[in-house]
Amino acid sequence: MKKTPHVNEERLIKTFIDLVKISSPSWEEKGVIDYIVNFGKSAGVECITYPCNNSYNVCIKILGEDNYVPILFSCHMDTVTPCENIQPVIKQNKIASDGSTILGADDKSAVAGFLEAILCLKESTIPHGNIEFLFSCAEETGLYGIKGFDVKQVQAKYAFVFDSDGPVGGVVVAAPFHISMKIYVKGKAAHAGMEPEKGISAIRVISEIITNIPHGRIDDETTVNVGTIKGGRATNIVAEEAECTLETRSRKKNKVFTIKKEITSIAKTIALRYKAKISVTSNMDYEGYSINENDSIVSIAIQALQSIGKKPLLAVSGGGSDTNILNARGIKAVNLSSGMRQVHTTKEYIAMQDLFDVPSLVLSIVQAAKK
Ligand SMILES: [Zn+2]
Repeated sequence: MKKTPHVNEERLIKTFIDLVKISSPSWEEKGVIDYIVNFGKSAGVECITYPCNNSYNVCIKILGEDNYVPILFSCHMDTVTPCENIQPVIKQNKIASDGSTILGADDKSAVAGFLEAILCLKESTIPHGNIEFLFSCAEETGLYGIKGFDVKQVQAKYAFVFDSDGPVGGVVVAAPFHISMKIYVKGKAAHAGMEPEKGISAIRVISEIITNIPHGRIDDETTVNVGTIKGGRATNIVAEEAECTLETRSRKKNKVFTIKKEITSIAKTIALRYKAKISVTSNMDYEGYSINENDSIVSIAIQALQSIGKKPLLAVSGGGSDTNILNARGIKAVNLSSGMRQVHTTKEYIAMQDLFDVPSLVLSIVQAAKK
């Protein structure tokens, strides 16, 4: 038994390569789940699967001493597409795909790093507290895995999510609230050549709505984007139906609600002027969070990063992650960089050093969590 934990770099590279080669788009994580469950068996750790729609969330639990804060480490098992037949290529101290697919370092750099950290813990005699590792499914398509997970299944009150891009050192302490909306307009069909005056063009109405609502960057913490638009049937028909979907995000809750109200009001006023029918629906997809920089979870992250020689970089994010849901459900969480770069593209890669730094950081957090 080693006194201090030691990352086995060769073993970690193998685990990472194994994992990225397993195709795991959202809801189709079975191969990765089997890999983690088999890992759990051979490492002799408690590994529990929790059904979630057609897939599972997976949790590995390691018991420890009471004089440490119980900690949850969290990452996700699914990736965006294209993720069929990923061929990782190692060159110049980086791992990338062959260019025809994503790499899947988002978020398998964390999955592999967590498994390596678990082995290091088992192989060393360092004292630690109760530690839980959560591997969620279906994150990429809407945080569905974590939303379908009962947080009462974990005891930790602090969570370190490893799902932010950039070199290890980044600590996301704030992320936005997110509301998605759909505007549907029903006008009136008519022959476009013979009696256009009898029609009400839903396309004209929705165009005017889109032109008049706030759009793009609203302020440093608030955005609006119309993402899809559809409508109409043919050029010789005054369009009867049109709809668009949009979203607004802000790190301030009141701002997303104010913008939603403003968009709804503009849409209704314009529809009324054209005598078109309108329906505006919305959904709060996830809540935002903002953790104080003096909070002890941030102190633990900073201390842990410094002790492995990394410069902590506190940041705010414009994106949502499992971190949002954990915070909304009462587990204080920050989102740490796991080294992935150019994510969601076929140019995605990870620097070898960042891959190694993930388990080092996990082990460092474990030790920094002393009460
Ligand atoms: Zn991710």
